[in-house]
Amino acid sequence: MSYDAIIIGAGLSGLTSALLLARAGRKVLVVEQHSSPAPVVRGFQRDGNYFDSGFHYAGGFGDGGPLQPLLRHLGIADRLKLFPYSADGFDCLRVSSSGEEYLLPVGFKRIKSYLGGKFPPARAEIEGYLDEIASMWRNVPYLDLDTDLVDFGMESVHGRSLQERLEVFSPWPQLQGLLSMHCLLYGVLPEQTPLSLNAQVAGSYYHSVHGICGGGRQLTQVLLALLKEAKVELQCRADVTQILSADHGVTGVRLHSGEEISAAEVIATVNPAQLPEMLPPATMRPAYLKRLEGLYQTTSAYIVYARSQQSLEFLRGRNMFVQSQAGIFTSTADQVLEERPFYLAAADQNSNNVIKGLIGIVPAPYSEVESFDLSGKQRTAEYRQWKQEMGARLLRMFYNKCPQLPPLELLDLATPLTLRDYSRAPQGAIYGVGRILGQYNPPPVTRLPGLFLAGQGIAGPGLLGSLVSSYLACGSILGHEVLRGELRSCR
Ligand SMILES: Cc1cc2nc3c(=O)[nH]c(=O)nc-3n(C[C@H](O)[C@H](O)[C@H](O)COP(=O)(O)OP(=O)(O)OC[C@H]3O[C@@H](n4cnc5c(N)ncnc54)[C@H](O)[C@@H]3O)c2cc1C
Repeated sequence: MSYDAIIIGAGLSGLTSALLLARAGRKVLVVEQHSSPAPVVRGFQRDGNYFDSGFHYAGGFGDGGPLQPLLRHLGIADRLKLFPYSADGFDCLRVSSSGEEYLLPVGFKRIKSYLGGKFPPARAEIEGYLDEIASMWRNVPYLDLDTDLVDFGMESVHGRSLQERLEVFSPWPQLQGLLSMHCLLYGVLPEQTPLSLNAQVAGSYYHSVHGICGGGRQLTQVLLALLKEAKVELQCRADVTQILSADHGVTGVRLHSGEEISAAEVIATVNPAQLPEMLPPATMRPAYLKRLEGLYQTTSAYIVYARSQQSLEFLRGRNMFVQSQAGIFTSTADQVLEERPFYLAAADQNSNNVIKGLIGIVPAPYSEVESFDLSGKQRTAEYRQWKQEMGARLLRMFYNKCPQLPPLELLDLATPLTLRDYSRAPQGAIYGVGRILGQYNPPPVTRLPGLFLAGQGIAGPGLLGSLVSSYLACGSILGHEVLRGELRSCR
């Protein structure tokens, strides 16, 4: 079979890249190793309850937000219904040792006013910090459509860390906690986090916060319907083992089955650490391959899926971030489990039903499950038993640190092994390759003509980073000014 373009991976980045190329007239095939497309975000049903998996909420969707032109351009905007998170507190920080709770309202102005009221002596510093984040957060190609692409800075490699920037708030550890807690949404410690990365992720939430009615499942269905209309073909259980090339550049891919499929363009949205094994021999410099293998992988996690017979309405439109002691988040997965920070989100919260489902995400290292790794073979009874015990321990930790939680029944537990198998990220890195100070993440254009990279490791985590990465890769093929021009007309 022959295509103009093959996209490796049917996650958010792969599906949107496919759509952009097909709309530009290319014959496109998406190949995905998992049995279903969008394995990370499609969510799942357990005992009649729907749970989101890799998507809960997104920032920057609101009026004037930079995600709107992207969604309109992709044709998603009319087909997705969004619901706003609680304006007076979309995220809550709970310090479990003292029982104190703080809210983050939606909107830079509201946050300034709330935090200024809670920490009056820090008012001027709070305003300065939030002004800085407000000026930085959209400073990303394709979110800012007015700045030339060449002018996007290098502060993510050489700038200040989030921790350094928050030192000014040392007298107010609770404030440091509130302003660093979103590191759980990108999986990098504040001491290694470029301020620009925190600005991109947290700043988008400070601007506006929405969930999607129907969650990740609905987002996946809308994307798949659009791909069908654009005549994109999709093959699941299609594990790419080799990217093929000849003298002039890429010629296609080889699947695990041995099948070869040809195309003159390939966009790989896999975790970049997987690429050295897939690339044709001698097409890249050894230093590049070493760099790919050494890229920082974000932490992994346990994800608890539970339900209660009682109401969890206090989590409607609001997540809860929990830390043991006030201060900058040290979300190290190496801490004793009970000392690790975590966050809780309500499941299926846009329905009219009383909320009864809970999702809890706790950082965890792969080493804690390594002994159960049967590399793709059936998990053992011993692993299932261990998951039950770990799930019960995690629920105990949730009750101890959040006494407002009603009794919960564990329905399932995802571990670093689950995350690894759904995304293929090494050691189940929850957000794939992270951006840290001192590290150059790979750009979308490679030395091999016809091979492009997209995915969260290229432009940043989440829906926002994935979409930007697709535009960067497809813009490199179709012309950035063409795509940016189209986006400007969608503002
Ligand atoms: C628990 C959790 C909660 C999250 N919550 C949010 C949230 O609330 N808001 C938000 O914006 N983001 C959230 N995210 C992040 C978001 O889900 C990701 O940033 C996004 O899905 C990344 O998309 P991607 O396409 O770049 O990567 P992926 O979804 O990992 O896509 C890569 C695809 O490539 C496939 N693949 C890998 N190797 C091969 C191969 N050899 N051959 C063929 N296919 C291959 C994989 O199976 C995968 O489907 C969350 C993530 C997790 C895990």
